[in-house]
Amino acid sequence: MPIATINPATGETLQTFESLGAEEIEKRLERARTAFETYRTTGFDERAELLRRAADLLEKDQEDIARTVTTEMGKPIAAARAEAAKCVKAMRWYAEHAEGLLADEHPSPADVEDSGGTKAYVRYRPLGPVLAVMPWNFPLWQVIRFAAPALMAGNTGLLKHASNVPRTALYLEDLFRRAGYPEGCFQTLLIGSGAVEGVLRDPRVAAATLTGSEPAGRSVASVAGDEIKKTVLELGGSDPYLVLPSADIARAAEVAVTARTQNNGQSCIAAKRFIVHRDVYDEFTRLFVDGMKALKVGDPMDDSTDVGPLSSERGRADLEELVEDARKHGATVLCGGRRPASHPAGWFYEPTVLADVTPRMRVHREETFGPVATLYKVADLDQAIEVANDTAFGLSSNVWTRDEEEQERCARDLQAGGVYINGMTASHPAMPFGGVKRSGYGRELSGHGIREFCNVTTVWYGTPPDVPAAE
Ligand code: NAP
Repeated sequence: MPIATINPATGETLQTFESLGAEEIEKRLERARTAFETYRTTGFDERAELLRRAADLLEKDQEDIARTVTTEMGKPIAAARAEAAKCVKAMRWYAEHAEGLLADEHPSPADVEDSGGTKAYVRYRPLGPVLAVMPWNFPLWQVIRFAAPALMAGNTGLLKHASNVPRTALYLEDLFRRAGYPEGCFQTLLIGSGAVEGVLRDPRVAAATLTGSEPAGRSVASVAGDEIKKTVLELGGSDPYLVLPSADIARAAEVAVTARTQNNGQSCIAAKRFIVHRDVYDEFTRLFVDGMKALKVGDPMDDSTDVGPLSSERGRADLEELVEDARKHGATVLCGGRRPASHPAGWFYEPTVLADVTPRMRVHREETFGPVATLYKVADLDQAIEVANDTAFGLSSNVWTRDEEEQERCARDLQAGGVYINGMTASHPAMPFGGVKRSGYGRELSGHGIREFCNVTTVWYGTPPDVPAAE
């Protein structure tokens, strides 16, 4: 894949970039290692000040960087602005909370005595340079939600961003440089995916985090496994969206439209499978389809656009194949299912709803990365949960019901890293984020996220430091 900025709304190549050669990669790895040696000894106050400065700069740059993001990957400009604002919030959150989240932990005096010690505590120390392999769909947020906690913990970061967002990748490196981070603390590596293995195997790289597809995750995790290096994987999702009779159906349908089409339908935590109780199926379906049809598809730079183009020609072709396969196997297309005639250039696709979906269709098993929803009619909550869990993925899930027993049941039984009740999945700095099954492992955000790339160190004393050991 070439490293290039190609506008998905027009298909025009705006700029191409040379990938880094071996010598330049070597220099950057060495800088990451050297920077770590001093940066790891800095205090939380110093790290927080740097991160707050980066947040202030990003806040000032909001409009410009939002336009860059929209130009490179096609999300509506309002969503790009919101993404930048979310990053600023997360940076400030970690600047404020990291010290508390990584405070020393003290076992009880009885346990210390039982261990034969006189004193003991657990300290969270940084690991070293961490490689982040990141996707294009939230090109600022995915990076910041790794970088803010990793840097606050005292690690240094190496970013291998997706090849279609090089301007955003270079902006991020420059952001941390302008904020005053010492050279080497955060660097962008403009490299293709083929060069990732070499970087990951380098002994100076301590760990890796990857957000992306299942094949990319498998490849990075197997190399890291071979090197015995820690990884966090945030992979794909096919999140269920359960609608049960006691729910506010109008609200559930309205939120369903946003949950499916946010980010032009290219979000790992977008609701993708809509599993609706038969008593409210017709009502929900009518409202949902009306909402999908009402969306404005068009120029992502236009403030009034709801859905822009898909990020690449390949991405649209993959989506089209999934819809065609479903159609061939008997799915009913309730709306969309084609390219909009109004936008012949660019990689647009109409918001689409498929009904009569069966397990033999690819859309039942695979992730639809675009504005395509699948509908399922179920008889009761048991069947709803069965359909919801009938997937290889387990990222998040959404449930609409006012019945507390049903809410509890879903919180217990849905196989996912999140259960969002009467709302749609959305990440927040204070809430852990991540999946189970083929959606990956490890967590980002919250205290769980910042501790992923820490050496959890037991410090144990056999004799009080001021008492000489007995002869
Ligand atoms: P992708 O093709 O897997 O790419 C993600 C990143 O991995 C890119 O930087 C890519 O580099 C790199 N990459 C691809 N193959 C690789 C390999 N074999 N070895 C090393 N690196 C490799 O995914 P995408 O199309 O950009 O993103 C969409 C996927 O990401 C979807 O499945 C989505 O659900 C998932 N996602 C998950 C989360 C989450 O939090 N769970 C969040 C967002 C997205 P190149 O661009 O150079 O190929």
